[in-house]
Amino acid sequence: MWLSCGLPSPFFFLLVSLSQGASCHADDPPPPHLPLPPLRRVYSLRQRATTFERFGKEASKKGSKKEPSVGTSLPPYHNFREPADVGRLRTRLLSWYDLEKRELPWRTLAQIETDVNIRTYAVWVSEVMLQQTQVATVIDYYKKWLKRWPTVADLAAATLEEVNQMWAGLGYYSRGKRLHEGARKVVSELGGRMPDTADELLRRLPGVTGAVDGNVIRVLCRMRAVGADCTSPAVTEALWALANTLVDPGRPGDFNQAMMELGARVCTPKGPLCQQCPVRSHCHSYLKVHARQEQNSRKFLGSKGTKPPALPDIEECGASGTCRLCPTEPWDEELGVQNFPRKPAKKPPRVERTLTCVPTRRGGDGEDEFLLVKGPNKGLLAGLWEFPSVPLAEVDDSEKKQQAALCAHLGNILGAPLTGNPLQYAGEVLHVFSHIRRTYVVHTLRLGGGDEARPRPANVRWIGRSALREAAVSAAVKKTVKLCDSAGLRNQQSSPVSAASIPGIIRPTSGIFKTRREEKGRRRQEEAEAAPSSGSKTQTSLRSFFGTPKREPC
Ligand code: SF4
Repeated sequence: MWLSCGLPSPFFFLLVSLSQGASCHADDPPPPHLPLPPLRRVYSLRQRATTFERFGKEASKKGSKKEPSVGTSLPPYHNFREPADVGRLRTRLLSWYDLEKRELPWRTLAQIETDVNIRTYAVWVSEVMLQQTQVATVIDYYKKWLKRWPTVADLAAATLEEVNQMWAGLGYYSRGKRLHEGARKVVSELGGRMPDTADELLRRLPGVTGAVDGNVIRVLCRMRAVGADCTSPAVTEALWALANTLVDPGRPGDFNQAMMELGARVCTPKGPLCQQCPVRSHCHSYLKVHARQEQNSRKFLGSKGTKPPALPDIEECGASGTCRLCPTEPWDEELGVQNFPRKPAKKPPRVERTLTCVPTRRGGDGEDEFLLVKGPNKGLLAGLWEFPSVPLAEVDDSEKKQQAALCAHLGNILGAPLTGNPLQYAGEVLHVFSHIRRTYVVHTLRLGGGDEARPRPANVRWIGRSALREAAVSAAVKKTVKLCDSAGLRNQQSSPVSAASIPGIIRPTSGIFKTRREEKGRRRQEEAEAAPSSGSKTQTSLRSFFGTPKREPC
């Protein structure tokens, strides 16, 4: 069936690679970037889809629809041993999915769109957008995107500037660029036809490595009690093998969607709703927690003088101690099913400070205009428009020296040197990227008109306030404008406006640095905040095991 509809709707298996982690409907923490077996390393889109799709195809070929094949390479405890058990799991999961699945625009489109090329393209866009971004956030962007570029040819005809503009606010900006590059490649090299097999699609479209979806990793690890580091090669192989075993060859795409839906809405990272889980009878973690609770209550009865009945058995891995899938850390009662999966400790984000200036002037129509500079084509905010900035690399550089560097930078941009010290301190903006905590130390610079005739480089432009809202700028630029607005209001009003009430904006002080000691103290505090807290549990407790229902947006 999936072959007849081409790749598109069950595109599910492709994972767009980002600089870090894959997957996720970002109700999850970013899933780990998983190394793939050699043949799969070429993949570049959401592999979460391909896994089941491809394995489904293989299963179909073997005529195994009636009798699910069960892999034998895994230790029995971590595998699905009985074909009938696999069949029941598929039926339960798909029945639940048929009743509970959310209507999402990409799912609807995948069902109703008859043009396979459009369907492939539309699912591809959704897969890319859903990387690291919540479903609730993606929906509006997705609708706007498809309204503007309903086909791959339309996207290919757009400029990167337009793509960045549309993507502004969605984060991980390289994703938009890759979509654009991919669309151009499809048009220029494939005659406008999206690849119609998973392998070709992965081979042809740029910039992807494979990884199993984070939701699916979590569900599988919990179901089969896989507690070793989920980024390790052994676990990766095990997850592929489990996927191979489980996928329903009759409905591989739906099965994959169902697994992700289960991970996003029931088997959530924190507070999983095991009591509502359609596959709990197949879940080692659930059964283990349940059995331990029984044991504890019986022990309690015993301590009260009542003879407790026999304790229930808790199945464990026969190879525990040498098994590469078992947890290396002891079972934590408090965590319950959240003992799985285990992830390696996160590297703390890099702490950076940037000296930024917001030059403004009154435009011809009386509206304020902002001076923006286009960033380089590569890097964190590739191709986006930013305020002129210089990195604050050296703590010990004097305030005067730092300001002089910024003034010199501005002079180059404006084509005329700045004299005196025209910068006005406005405050600080903290913006957290995936791996960087960057503080913008913001100054304003009010300029008069009259430089319209002066030639300006193509990467520099004045832009009105209303146009700025729609421009290809990052969220940090928008926060900076808010800070400047609040600072401007504060200057105009007798009662000061609290800039700190805007998230990420830090209350202004009297200069870019207070004193060197205060600056160092603040830096230490920032670094401490950025570092992962040692020993803190990322997941909560057994209380959530029988928690109340909660509908996540994803
Ligand atoms: Fe996840 Fe609980 Fe379902 Fe197991 S029973 S798969 S832990 S929600």
